[in-house]
Amino acid sequence: MDKHSKKNVIRNAVIGKDCTLIDSKSCEKPIHFELVSALRELQAQAEKNGFDLRIASGYRSFEQQLQIWNAKASGLRDVLDKNENALDITQLNPKELMFAILRWSALPGTSRHHWGTDFDVYDAAAIDDGYQLQLTVSETQKGGPFEAFYCWLDNILSQPAMSFFRPYTLNSQLEVAPEPWHLSYRPTAHLFQQELTIELVSDVIKNSEIALKTVILDNLEEIFQRFVVTSS
Ligand SMILES: [Zn+2]
Repeated sequence: MDKHSKKNVIRNAVIGKDCTLIDSKSCEKPIHFELVSALRELQAQAEKNGFDLRIASGYRSFEQQLQIWNAKASGLRDVLDKNENALDITQLNPKELMFAILRWSALPGTSRHHWGTDFDVYDAAAIDDGYQLQLTVSETQKGGPFEAFYCWLDNILSQPAMSFFRPYTLNSQLEVAPEPWHLSYRPTAHLFQQELTIELVSDVIKNSEIALKTVILDNLEEIFQRFVVTSS
């Protein structure tokens, strides 16, 4: 790939519009090819400790994130409050609804899942086949099925040489709900993060069939400040 087309691939991949760099075969879910071996190593370490680290969700395209967004905006999917209870969205104006969705779902074009460097994990050894995975904080805490797994994960993520980290934590400056299951591969995610700009997202939103489009475009700067991890 020459320099120019590589730049184009990255520009589109930042917003979930190019999957050239995504490996769909090596792991159970599609992820960026650069983290395949690091992820396998993490899984091997988990296994040594009696855990079966699996990916619930890896790469997600702009269109997939758009479906989630539109389903929430139209009431087909629950919009949750801070305490993970469903909101009555008929009581919210468009701006309130948009910010309520943003607590749990990224604006299409700004999801770190677009990059393939970020993925949600769980421990398949802790649950049986019939278990309906929710990815809620209560599953990760004391008395939840993944308590021991998260104990191990907290520990391993704190090691200095670790290349995976959690972008959405409790003490983050952002208003995104903490997602302890969401891991990011720093060496590659860092490059995408540098490319993510308001202009890029504004363009893709303008050209998409997204619910709440006007209110999104009117508030894009605030959305970035409150909900998007950027480099600056
Ligand atoms: Zn996630």
